[in-house]
Amino acid sequence: MQTPDSGLAACIDIGGSKALVGLVDRGGKILARERYPSPPGVEPAELVRRLGARVHTLAGAAGLDWQRVVGVGYSTAGMMDVERGIIFSSPNQGDWRDVPFMELLKREFQLPARIEMDANAAAIGEAWLGAGQGADPLVFLVIGTGVGSGILVNGRVLRGWNGTAGEIGHTVIDLAGPACNCGNKGCLESLVSGPAIARRARQAGSPAGEDELSAEAVFQAARAGDPAALAVVAETVELLSIGVTNLIHLLNPKAIILGGGVGQGGADLLLEPLKKAVSRRVGSWVDFDGTLIARSQLGSDAGLLGAAWLVWNELVKEIAT
Ligand SMILES: [Zn+2]
Repeated sequence: MQTPDSGLAACIDIGGSKALVGLVDRGGKILARERYPSPPGVEPAELVRRLGARVHTLAGAAGLDWQRVVGVGYSTAGMMDVERGIIFSSPNQGDWRDVPFMELLKREFQLPARIEMDANAAAIGEAWLGAGQGADPLVFLVIGTGVGSGILVNGRVLRGWNGTAGEIGHTVIDLAGPACNCGNKGCLESLVSGPAIARRARQAGSPAGEDELSAEAVFQAARAGDPAALAVVAETVELLSIGVTNLIHLLNPKAIILGGGVGQGGADLLLEPLKKAVSRRVGSWVDFDGTLIARSQLGSDAGLLGAAWLVWNELVKEIAT
């Protein structure tokens, strides 16, 4: 048995469009990684079999001895019971119901395994090695195709009584707002997600919103000075500042880290105006200057590194016994 210090964590992060597998050492250094389009919806056992093959191949190609791998960390979107290792549903993987995913990973890899929700894993990654080091409470606010968050309080994921805490995307910020996927109107997600930004740009007559459902096209047009796109960005900042102010009042977080395609990709346009808007909106009794609002430092590696942290901090005891 290798000691954990010389060991490697096998890490997997399955997103909506991209998947990432990697081998990470105890210090958080990614010794090998492979990014590829997310696998199509397949049966859980088949997905795990493919992931096993992929990670083994990655280790081999990088010249890393598989005997050094001590555990598996897995991050993905979905509803899950992390302690029992059961994924109740996973929107990116099709119609899964109550899948004992941790057991499948253990069986395939013949190693201990942990699973985590993607926003929580990213929050853990940023707290460990990224923009949120030393910050507690910490919120990782994901703004992409959807809007969600991972919240750490006292160094632990805030889950709520059955795992649904952090759904900031479905807090209503505009009673007369557009319909949301959840059935309500005016949810934060229905206004500042990538598709929502593109839709508002279309409604504002910006050419950037016409062809594709892409917030990035709107951001590009704004960078080029398109007035309609700039107005959409300014409105996005105001809408987002309501959500961020709500987070501040609810949690008094030390740091709010922005991630996801919009939060990360649009940070050059959104971040500084957002800080000003939140500062204007938040109550005078709140020490806003002491709250860090920053873009993700780890970018697309945040979830992978969060998965590695799980191996080093939650599995090492299990491994040692
Ligand atoms: Zn909603």
